Amino acid sequence: MKQAALRPTPAPHGGKLVQRVLDTKLVERALRAARTLPYLTVGREVIVNMEMIATGVLSPLEGFMGSKDYRSVLDRGRLADGLPWTMPITFSPSTHGREQTVEKLREGHEVALLDEESREPVAILHLEEIFSYDKDERAQKVFGTTDRKHPGVDHIYRNMGDLLLSGTIDLLRRTHWGPFEKYRLEPKETWRIFYEERKWETVVAFQTANPLHRGHEYLQKCAMELYDGLFIHPIVETTRKAYFRNEFRIMAYEAALDTYYPKDRVVLAPLRVTMNYAGPREAILHAIIRKNCGCTHLILGRDHAGFGKLYAPYAAQEIFKDYSPEEIGITPIFFKETFYCARCACMATEKTCPHGPEFHITMSGTGVQDMLRYGYLPPKEVLRPEVGQIIIQGIQPKGLNEEGQAIKPPADTVLGLFPSYVTHHRLGGAERQKPLDPATLTVRDIEAALQDVRENAATIYSDISEAIAHRFDTSRALENRQRSEALGEALKRQERLIEILEEKVEDAPETVPDPFMYQDKEEARKELEVARRIYKEMQKPLEPEEFRHRIWNPMEYERYTR
Ligand SMILES: [Zn+2]
Repeated sequence: MKQAALRPTPAPHGGKLVQRVLDTKLVERALRAARTLPYLTVGREVIVNMEMIATGVLSPLEGFMGSKDYRSVLDRGRLADGLPWTMPITFSPSTHGREQTVEKLREGHEVALLDEESREPVAILHLEEIFSYDKDERAQKVFGTTDRKHPGVDHIYRNMGDLLLSGTIDLLRRTHWGPFEKYRLEPKETWRIFYEERKWETVVAFQTANPLHRGHEYLQKCAMELYDGLFIHPIVETTRKAYFRNEFRIMAYEAALDTYYPKDRVVLAPLRVTMNYAGPREAILHAIIRKNCGCTHLILGRDHAGFGKLYAPYAAQEIFKDYSPEEIGITPIFFKETFYCARCACMATEKTCPHGPEFHITMSGTGVQDMLRYGYLPPKEVLRPEVGQIIIQGIQPKGLNEEGQAIKPPADTVLGLFPSYVTHHRLGGAERQKPLDPATLTVRDIEAALQDVRENAATIYSDISEAIAHRFDTSRALENRQRSEALGEALKRQERLIEILEEKVEDAPETVPDPFMYQDKEEARKELEVARRIYKEMQKPLEPEEFRHRIWNPMEYERYTR
C-alpha cells in the first residue's frame, strides 16, 4: 500500500474554504451602497482579521464570532459545534467617541466598516448579535494572566470596547502589503500551487517573524527529508514595530533560499496576522491557519508564541494532546531547542547530542538581533553570512550609544548565544576557576566570545579528526608533512638531551660541596629519568615501512570480489 493512502486527505478546517471577498462585479455597487449605511471606523488589526476571514485563512469563520462561539472558545477551546478553536476572533469597536453609533445599531442591520485612516469602506458587516463580555475573564482564559505588561492583555483594556459585534462580513477591498505584496498568496492559490502545480502530497509549514537562522534551517531541512514541500510563512506583524525593516527581511529570506534551498521544494509567502503571544492557544490557531493554506504538517519549536517566561517552554506542544489528530487535521512536528555543537560539528538538540554546554552555541533569535544591533555579524554557525549581510543593514534601532557602549545589558547577548563563555575559558576549553559575573560583562566580552567561536568552532572537530587520521591513514600521501617533520626533529632533540644527561650522571659525584653550583648523582639521575619518560610519551613519527604490516589479506584479493 502506498504510504500516502494512510494519511487523511488534506482539507480546510471544518471542510470548506471560506470566500468572502466580494466579487469584483459587485464591488462598485456595494461601495455606493456602503455610503448610505450606518458605519463604524476600524483600525488595522480589525482590517487584517477581516482579510484573513474573507480569504479563508480562518475557515470556517465567515465573520466575527457570536456569543455562543465566544463562550465555547473561552471555556472549551472549541467552537459551539465542537470544532477545535482556541482564540476568540471578535469585533469590538472602541467606545471612544463612538457610543452613539453603536447604540443606534440593531441586530439585522448592515454596517459599513471604514478604514479609520483613509475613511474608505473596507467591508460590510451583517450584524447578527451585540453582546457584552468580561475583559478580566477574556485576559485570564486566553493569556493566563491579567497583567497589562502582556501586549495581548493590554490590547483588551486599551483598544477594545465593552460590546462585541458579531456577524458575517463581505470584504470590499484588500489592503496593500507594501514590500510583501508581490509575495502574497491566498489559501486558494497555495492549495493550487502545492497540489496541482507542484504535485506534492505533503507540505510542511514553518512560521517565523525573523530572518532565518541556522536553527530554523535545521528544523526545516529535517522536515524536508521526510516530506515533499516546505511552506515558509513568515508573519508580517501589525501591532509591533518590526526589528528588521521589511524590505531587508524579504531580501534576507531570499538570500537564504537562493543559496541553501532547492528552489522547487520551497514556497515563500508572508502572512499578515496580529501576534497575540497567547502561547499554546495561539499555537493551535497557527496550526489551523496552515491547515487552511493546504499544509499537512507544521513545525513547532520551543515556546511558540511565548511571552517572557509566562508559558512553560513546551506548553504550545502539550496543548495538542487536548485534541484528536483527526479533528486538528494537521500534524504538528515538535522540536526541542536547537544549538550548534562544535564537538558534533553540526546542528543538534538535546535529543541528538551527548556533549556538554561548553561545546554549544545557542540559536537565540534575540541574541542574533542584539549582535546585529551592536554591529557584529553573528557566527556562521548561527547565521548564514549571506543573510547577515542583508539584515545587519536593516535592523533598527542600533544598540550602541555614542560612547560605543551597549544600551542593553551585554550579558543578555553573551548568555543568549554563548552560554558557556562565563563558565569556560573558551569553546570546548577548560572551566574557569570562578564563573564571570554577568553584571560585569561589556561589549568587549561580546567581541571576545564571538572571536573565540569564529576561531574555534570549526577547528575542534577537525583537530580531532586529523589527530586520529594521522595515525591510521595507511597512505602517507595524506600526511601533514610539516607536523611529522617537526615531531621527528623534536624527538631527535630529546635523544640528544638524554645523551648529555647520561654523561652528566656518569660524571656526577655522590655528594657536592655547593649544591647551587654542582649537582650530585641522585639529582642528575632524576633529571635523566624525566627526560627519558618524556621521550617515551612523545608520539613517534610514523615511517612508511611501519604501515606495511597493516596492508594484508589472508586470502588473495580476487577471492573476495568474485
Ligand atoms: Zn554534540
